[in-house]
Amino acid sequence: MSTLIVTDVTKQFGGQPVLQNVTLTVPSGSRTSVVGASGSGKSTLLRLIAGFDDPDAGQISLGGVPLAGGVSTVPAHRRGVGYVAQDGALFPHLTVGQNIVFGLPRSARRSARVAEVAALVAIGTDLLGRYPHELSGGQQQRVALARALAPEPQVVLLDEPFSALDTGLRAYTRRAVIAALEQSRVTTILVTHDQEEALSFGDQIAIIDGGRISQAGPPALVFDNPHTAGIAEFLGDAI
Ligand code: ADP
Ligand code: MG
Repeated sequence: MSTLIVTDVTKQFGGQPVLQNVTLTVPSGSRTSVVGASGSGKSTLLRLIAGFDDPDAGQISLGGVPLAGGVSTVPAHRRGVGYVAQDGALFPHLTVGQNIVFGLPRSARRSARVAEVAALVAIGTDLLGRYPHELSGGQQQRVALARALAPEPQVVLLDEPFSALDTGLRAYTRRAVIAALEQSRVTTILVTHDQEEALSFGDQIAIIDGGRISQAGPPALVFDNPHTAGIAEFLGDAI
């Protein structure tokens, strides 16, 4: 089981509260969309879960194992958490294949695993020898997801992975990525600005406002019963 539990997490930067008492449960194998205005703390939340930074207070656990906020902190590379940044953040000097294989320990199954995850995100083997700049933005994002999924993480975090893509590419890339995530059944958090994306992607949608989760629940419930006028306005544009 790989249920992710964030409990009462608080984070400040330079005395400014950025996350305040954030509590969120993402059940094993489920998908949660996190939406909120720019600067509301979405990326900070993902960075704390990934282990790139530590909370000031509160706990983060995965499958019952404390990752942060307990007596010891599990370092990022041992958390079983994959991360996909907004721009993919592929290593520019490595080929697609080398990017995907990067986090994998040497083993007989390594090249088979690269082929497997490339297929999962619909990246043909003909692309494995290319460099990131020779790919479209959508292909780069799919490679970034393949790289994140290759070590079989328990959780994948996607930080606005489609926002830099133009509209045509975005719809196709989103479909390919969602299909890959559905197949891999990995516990996922997607941060997005796009309300339609949030409502269609998640088993749960969490709305973050000024560093607090103002509402979380199944998309239909949140859509039908928004707790604030701001949430209603944000979600109202979707249909
Ligand atoms: P979002 O992803 O929702 O746009 P962020 O989590 O990136 O928001 O940032 C939330 C707030 O925290 C912003 O005001 C941002 O400037 C601040 N912040 C984020 N990271 C740092 C940091 N490393 N140092 C100082 N301030 C930061
Ligand atoms: Mg952000």
